[in-house]
Amino acid sequence: MLSFSSAMLKAVTKFIQMKTELMVHKMSGDENIRWFHGKITREAAEIVLKNAGGEDGLFLVRESNTAVGDYVLSVMHENEPVHYQIRRHGEDAFFSIDEHTVHHGLETLIEHYQGDSHGLETRLKKVCLKDPPPHDARKHGRTNLLHRATKEGNYTVVSELLKCGYRSVDAKNAEGQTAVHLASVLGEDGILKKLIESGANINCRDTAGNTPLHYACQMNLPSTVRTLVQMGGANVQVRNTETGWVPLHEAAYRGHVEVVRALLALDAPAHPRTPGGVDKTPADLAAEGGFTECEEILRNYKPPAAKSSRKEWYHGSIIRNQAVEILQESEKELGEDVDDMVGIFLVRWSDRKGGGYVLTMLHAGKPYHFQIRKKDKFYFIDDGPYLESLEHVISHYSILSDGLPAILGRPVAPKKEATPPPLPPLPPELQSPSSSQVNGVSRNVPPPLPLFLNHSGSSSSFLSPSSSTSPRVSPSLSPLSSKVPPSAAAAPSTSVMNSTPASRRSEERNVDALQPLNPFRASHGSPIDEVNIPREYLSLGPVIGEGEFGSVYQGVYRPPNGMEMEVAVKTLHSEHVSSNREEFLREAVVMMGLKHHCIVSLIGVSEGQTLLMVQELLALGSMLDFLLESPEQASPAYELKLWASQIACGMSYLEEKGFVHRDLAARNILLASKVQAKISDFGLSRALRVDSDYYRATQGGRWPIKWYAPESFNYGTFSHASDVWSFGVTLWEMFSYGKQPYGDLRGVQVIQLVEKGERLPKPARCPEVVWELITKCWAYKAAERPTFSSLSDAFSSVAEYVNVQELVGGVIENRIERV
Ligand code: AMP
Repeated sequence: MLSFSSAMLKAVTKFIQMKTELMVHKMSGDENIRWFHGKITREAAEIVLKNAGGEDGLFLVRESNTAVGDYVLSVMHENEPVHYQIRRHGEDAFFSIDEHTVHHGLETLIEHYQGDSHGLETRLKKVCLKDPPPHDARKHGRTNLLHRATKEGNYTVVSELLKCGYRSVDAKNAEGQTAVHLASVLGEDGILKKLIESGANINCRDTAGNTPLHYACQMNLPSTVRTLVQMGGANVQVRNTETGWVPLHEAAYRGHVEVVRALLALDAPAHPRTPGGVDKTPADLAAEGGFTECEEILRNYKPPAAKSSRKEWYHGSIIRNQAVEILQESEKELGEDVDDMVGIFLVRWSDRKGGGYVLTMLHAGKPYHFQIRKKDKFYFIDDGPYLESLEHVISHYSILSDGLPAILGRPVAPKKEATPPPLPPLPPELQSPSSSQVNGVSRNVPPPLPLFLNHSGSSSSFLSPSSSTSPRVSPSLSPLSSKVPPSAAAAPSTSVMNSTPASRRSEERNVDALQPLNPFRASHGSPIDEVNIPREYLSLGPVIGEGEFGSVYQGVYRPPNGMEMEVAVKTLHSEHVSSNREEFLREAVVMMGLKHHCIVSLIGVSEGQTLLMVQELLALGSMLDFLLESPEQASPAYELKLWASQIACGMSYLEEKGFVHRDLAARNILLASKVQAKISDFGLSRALRVDSDYYRATQGGRWPIKWYAPESFNYGTFSHASDVWSFGVTLWEMFSYGKQPYGDLRGVQVIQLVEKGERLPKPARCPEVVWELITKCWAYKAAERPTFSSLSDAFSSVAEYVNVQELVGGVIENRIERV
């Protein structure tokens, strides 16, 4: 049980006060934007308006039935309803009725026509009340509890909120800022760490185009900068959408010497350039401001030696088709080992345009060619940073995609036996004795650059091995390839909005990227096609939870066969589409193949402006919330053991199917009833290869370190045995009624503790027999941990309840649920 100090009590009282205030605010503040009626037909809209009185200027907004992403404004004028199409521009929340006046956010557009008719038949005078518009159609969010507590620097309330599974961790306020933005502006490092541990998005931008790291740099907060980058995996090369400035520009412009030093120590390139031909480096900005020390640090900066060497990727003078063939052939040889998230590449010398280096890369089957240009002693690609050597260029883009379609993950070395093409003279700086080796290296494809650290590592990407490499926040570079879609190639390179060409490209290849995962894929089409649900068969009710990428709604699924079913609908908000669509669909694909009473079933996916995943509805929702809110309803001797046996049973089914879950935790268990727990959240799950009993992750995302086995956090390997370790932590959470494992310790500290042989303490209410099982799950050596099937047996054969075998086996599940 939690023991409350008086400070804590005060904080919690304040929390309740704030919550009440917020509810009052919500009830009154929302009224003016509650004109949204969902996806109803024109006829239905006319009936609604007439039933609501039908006076002149009475209006509602509905989702268009004909054009995905568009809306319709229906307004009464002289007793007749008039309908105006509201067109969406691009993927962001920009809308217009008359083509000339484009508004950011539906609410801004409606406000415009409330002030004046601006060419409509009538001004919008009265709201026909229903719901506020969807978040993805709005410009701003609303201040929530987490924003307030963060702004007040109230660590206790923030911790309590996050501990209770607060789901709106990435919600935006009126300035489009998240709690991470606010903590970064204020230098609230403790709160920031909490938010990071709770998986908050670190690289998102506010309405001014700034990320949290931009603010920490502006505010001269070196320790906040370190926290964001080292712990949160913040991207040091992310650009402000308006100015194109990266964080180092912000710091240098203000002469913040310590922040400049911190960024350089975190491997930020010293000479990023402002886009659009302006080409200002941080040293230039420091010089303009008269910050001499700052300027000198930057101009005299000597980067560490590049981690890549020419012999791994330099092919001398070959033409572009040859380069593409080499890469394609190498990709074929790699077969299943091809990692969709990284590019396979080589560097060549091209005689075109006066001669120069070209980076040729293959990603998702498409070739790209990027000219590596030279200015004075520096090398650079397009708008990218000035880098000290060719090797530094490759090193830089091996860590950050920074505008390339993916990071450079797989260098292809020239083949030993390859007949060297007639070599033109090498560029001068290659005419060293070592350059004769270029074609003399046997072909070997080196392993990807190390993405994992051991526990003593101090690399910046500890919790998020590759999050800093995410293409979603990178500006685009202009590939030379004609194979790039014209729209992508034509996009201005200064554009750093969500929809960069790179992100669009990654969207195009989403479904194919899922292929290796899906053992159930039909021989044609996308796996997702097989479970696609037309949007009109779904109607959405209230929000029942907040997922990582959007809200979760209760809904009703009505297919044409007359059947009707209550469902849970997970949404992927459009702001996340470009970056997380793949992850979202990946979860659906994994779930498609799983049918078990202890695993949440997928009903289908509905693709549209907002991507929806439709699942069976589990009436009692999250087990973690249930334990925190109604601990008295879950006895350790009955419910907890029953749920434990069901989780073990579901996991042993997953094992049979060859999947590792990788995110087993109390927050990911849902309750259909008090006698049925089910495993959900398959976003991190992976199919194991037939010949392998572990999966090695090459990409990160944020990792739930506290739930991970030593081999997972040390080497990135995941197996059924590492899921067993997580199961032990899940049991610990259950028997301690929702406590946070390891309290406030950070991931790095937890790793040190586990490595020293220490483990979580026995929860007070945990029966001895269960504790024994839990400790076995935490055996350091994977092979010494119990299997899920033995755990399932152990839990379901406990004497306290006679019928548990049946319950676990699902035999009487339905009967009990319907009672
Ligand atoms: P998730 O995105 O899976 O983390 O879901 C966020 C929250 O939404 C959960 O904690 C649950 O409260 C709720 N939720 C998600 N899926 C379901 C479901 N299938 N049935 C009922 N509630 C759900």
